[in-house]
Amino acid sequence: MKPIPYWLDTAPAAPDRTALSLDGRTDVAVVGAGLTGLSAALHLARKGARVTVLEQDTVGWGASGRNGGMCTTGLAIGFLTAVGRYGVPTAKSLYLAYNDAIDTVEKLVTEEDIDCDFARTGKLNLACKPAHYERLARTHEALHDLIGYRTELIPRKDLRAEIGSDYYHGAMADPQGAGLHVGKFVRGLADAAERLGVRILEKAPVTKVRRISGHRHDVTTPVGTLRADQVLFASGAYTGSSFRWLRNRVVPVGSFIVVTEPLDQAVLDELMPTRRMASDSRNILYYFRVTPDNRLLFGGRARFAMSGAASDLKSGKILRKGMLSVFPQLAGVRIDYCWGGLVDLSLDQLVHAGEHEGLFYAAGFSGHGVQMATHMGRQMADVLGGDASANVWRGLEFPHVPGHYFGSPWFLPFAGAYYRTLDVLT
Ligand SMILES: Cc1cc2nc3c(=O)[nH]c(=O)nc-3n(C[C@H](O)[C@H](O)[C@H](O)COP(=O)(O)OP(=O)(O)OC[C@H]3O[C@@H](n4cnc5c(N)ncnc54)[C@H](O)[C@@H]3O)c2cc1C
Repeated sequence: MKPIPYWLDTAPAAPDRTALSLDGRTDVAVVGAGLTGLSAALHLARKGARVTVLEQDTVGWGASGRNGGMCTTGLAIGFLTAVGRYGVPTAKSLYLAYNDAIDTVEKLVTEEDIDCDFARTGKLNLACKPAHYERLARTHEALHDLIGYRTELIPRKDLRAEIGSDYYHGAMADPQGAGLHVGKFVRGLADAAERLGVRILEKAPVTKVRRISGHRHDVTTPVGTLRADQVLFASGAYTGSSFRWLRNRVVPVGSFIVVTEPLDQAVLDELMPTRRMASDSRNILYYFRVTPDNRLLFGGRARFAMSGAASDLKSGKILRKGMLSVFPQLAGVRIDYCWGGLVDLSLDQLVHAGEHEGLFYAAGFSGHGVQMATHMGRQMADVLGGDASANVWRGLEFPHVPGHYFGSPWFLPFAGAYYRTLDVLT
């Protein structure tokens, strides 16, 4: 079994972009070469800006190369909660932003000719309990009645047409959801940005950012310092002490994935006949899909812990058990890959993007970033260009996470216990 992301292992090899030295000036310094940073860099370059992307490891090393590759519709908090919190007009615009985000991904794939198996497979939200199915039914109705948005409701008796499992109590499907090979996508995005003149420097951790005036900063790495007219932090869950204000507002939570050996077509036709992207309704949820080369990818938060070599393996064992409880047919099937990564969870599970003391940022994708990080990269390119209204998330208060001041979040085990209890009770 390989303890590395399947996506990066099966994508075309990337060039070595190790930074040897750094000095001079740039119009925009982007911190982080994930989907947010690379999409922002590409869209800024299209506007004619000179852009330098600084990545502490390699392109796609963070969540962007470690996720499920699902471009899904809908908010992390769900439509009904959004209506309750913000009212219909705001809930509508935030909800539909995810459809715009999938369109952004599709457009980029086409315009930049990125070979990444993008497909509008649709998305399946699966109910773990009868009460969860009732909530999906209410969501389905509210989406239709309040904003004219159509989804499909699938009662338990018809579920076998979607999934070869008796584990769930019904589902809501959205045909707009999509899937892609995210390793090919993130590396393809980097290549496309470079073709437009973006400079991408790897092994270049930003250790310090010093404000000169307004948006202008000196950005320091171990190989040198760059003066940038504008700086965008696209560092997600991996944000460190060079931007403490942002780090203290984002909780890094581990999410883990196992991938099976390639499976026969007939087995997949039984397990996931429609090949939709799928996730279920628990807080400590499962998500799964078929990969472009016919493996089952099965992921989840498993333990509400940080990601690391030992933690990933421990979570992988839990996930394999979970996979077998959903698909007992897979007993005896080999696991070829197991890895983990960090999700950038905000306190309200909404995206936050804007500017703080001269530094721009976009983060808090809360497990829904494949499409939205790519989209927000594009929107932030407009914001840096002077159009603040391009940012659909503007104006939301970005709350500090209580107790999250230093290093890794000590409170994760407590949060995990809380959500596990909630999953039992509700
Ligand atoms: C296991 C897992 C499964 C997921 N599944 C899905 C899914 O199926 N669908 C979905 O929509 N979302 C999913 N997500 C979430 C999604 O992957 C993220 O929301 C998205 O990739 C965030 O992109 P980003 O560019 O903002 O951050 P990242 O991809 O994390 O990139 C941030 C980059 O910044 C770099 N960095 C940080 N600090 C510095 C510094 N000081 N100097 C230089 N570089 C720095 C990091 O090394 C990293 O490469 C998943 C996440 C995980 C972990």
